[in-house]
Amino acid sequence: MKMKHKGILIVVSGFSGAGKGTLMKQLVHTYDNYALSVSMTTRNPRPGEEEGKEYFFVSREAFEEKISQEGLIEYASYCDNYYGTPRDYVEKQLEKGKDVILEIEIQGALKVKEKFPTALLMFVMPPDVAELKKRLESRGTESVAVIEKRLKRAAEEAEGIEQYDFIVINDKLEECVMQMHSIIQLSLIHISE
Ligand code: 5GP
Repeated sequence: MKMKHKGILIVVSGFSGAGKGTLMKQLVHTYDNYALSVSMTTRNPRPGEEEGKEYFFVSREAFEEKISQEGLIEYASYCDNYYGTPRDYVEKQLEKGKDVILEIEIQGALKVKEKFPTALLMFVMPPDVAELKKRLESRGTESVAVIEKRLKRAAEEAEGIEQYDFIVINDKLEECVMQMHSIIQLSLIHISE
């Protein structure tokens, strides 16, 4: 086995409401070899979301400027807004040997896999569809129209699921975090062999 110098990219996708955000925060909090990338978006902040923490919230103009400067590793349009991964942070963390987690949707995930073939693609599923709807509604931050749009998009994303390396069921938070960590560590051994 060779020594590992550079980190790898871990791409985590999943339906809106699958609980990815909580999972990723817990993963980064529990283990110290991960860095969580903060995306840029044109959507409005939800109550409680902070600039630079959940996202960098920018105008469409600023986002398009960033695209033209090639400042994003990937970007996509999701339910009428742009979302993208800033390049600088990710490259610095990889150089430091950190494994960088990108919590992004499927179009972005596939672009990352193209550019970084060692990237690990994981898809987080809620225990069932009823739970997904419940989580989306109980968040209470989106209108009925937006929830419908997101559920429709979830159905579309389900079609691309076979392109992911692993599917994880987010039933119990702690168990799921442990499972993800184990999958990543085992894959790292495989990559560096
Ligand atoms: P939300 O509005 O619920 O925070 O995110 C909507 C969707 O955009 C989620 O599926 C989330 O994973 C995805 N997303 C967040 N950041 C990025 C990004 O930088 N790039 C891409 N392609 N998708 C992202």
